[in-house]
Amino acid sequence: MTQVFSGNASFLNNENDLILVLGHGQLARMMYLGATQLGLNIIAVNADSRECVNPVDKTVLDLSIEQAFEYCIAITSEFEHLPKDLVQQAEATNKFRPGAKAISAGADRIVEKELLDSLGVANCPHRIVRSTQDLARAYTELGPKLILKTSREGYDGYGQWRIFSLDELQDICNELQEFDFDHMPLVAEQCVNFEREISLLGVTDIDGKHDYYPLTENHHGAGQLVLSLAPAPNSDKELQRQAQEIHDKIAEALNYTGVLAIELFQMGDKLLVNEIAPRVHNSGHWTQQGCAASQFENHIRAIAGLPLGSTKPQHLVAMVNYVGEPKPNNDILKLANTHLHWYDKAVRAKRKMGHINLVADSVQELQSLISKVHDLLPESLQTNLAKIKD
Ligand code: AMP
Repeated sequence: MTQVFSGNASFLNNENDLILVLGHGQLARMMYLGATQLGLNIIAVNADSRECVNPVDKTVLDLSIEQAFEYCIAITSEFEHLPKDLVQQAEATNKFRPGAKAISAGADRIVEKELLDSLGVANCPHRIVRSTQDLARAYTELGPKLILKTSREGYDGYGQWRIFSLDELQDICNELQEFDFDHMPLVAEQCVNFEREISLLGVTDIDGKHDYYPLTENHHGAGQLVLSLAPAPNSDKELQRQAQEIHDKIAEALNYTGVLAIELFQMGDKLLVNEIAPRVHNSGHWTQQGCAASQFENHIRAIAGLPLGSTKPQHLVAMVNYVGEPKPNNDILKLANTHLHWYDKAVRAKRKMGHINLVADSVQELQSLISKVHDLLPESLQTNLAKIKD
């Protein structure tokens, strides 16, 4: 690298390879932490201001986004809901991995459903809704329980309505009288009666070779992930194989490089895809303590063209999300085999503030650790966890 950087970006004038992450939240931060020991420089881009920032302390760097695009070896993203022009700018460099097509499939439920249907991948029965008449028809065809979702910008349960009766259908149709369906088409999904939610995180290297973490079991409260258990209890080789087959179809259709997360509903021995996330994912945070190479390290390895690290599980892990509450006191740190990951963000209701990975070598040990952590959590987090900890 030539001496083009100055000020607080002059550390870039060395032989370390530069990788750019679009978005500067906790996923960019954890990619930085996962990759820095490999001797790579990770810089985040604030997708609103377009400033280059340090992903950990968020210092704005003396580096323009144009310079960063030019000198980086790879660009990735921590979030699919990105401004279109930023995605196009990244795509034009030919260094964007997993690339604009994958981002669009993750960001727009209509594109995602079209992709899954075109690949013959089972997903929830659904209809595209462009008017209240469409919605009434969808209810007749798929009801009596529907989940209505915005096609874009919906995540963590935001942008969703549950329609469980004709009265509720009427209320929502009234509410949507002035709704701009042209700007934001909706997707009506049949509310499916699944046994549990699981996810598969797979990673594809730059030559198209896939590897996978074991399935993870996920528990939600108010639309947000509360607890992940990994490897997912009671999951056999056949279930893992089915999930991997789905992963490969999607990754190959998207010409994918990096970590791809697939959220699934399990119904007996069948899997339905709920949604895909073209990035590292909350349900893969357990890999930080559970595997030799975490999802963050492996995503960076993949997009940088490096050999992948092992995805084999080394322990049982429970990941507890820490949402909307200030940093816990040090009692949690006193528990052996408990690892706090704090994102250093300002506290806001429903905001993911951090997570705790609990590591054990037996189910009993893990359950006892979950109970101990539960007792140290603030009340709001205990309520969610109490429902599922047994
Ligand atoms: P999503 O934002 O689409 O992942 O939805 C958030 C949560 O709502 C999921 O994790 C499920 O618990 C639930 N959910 C979403 N879609 C459906 C569906 N079609 N049937 C039943 N539950 C659903």
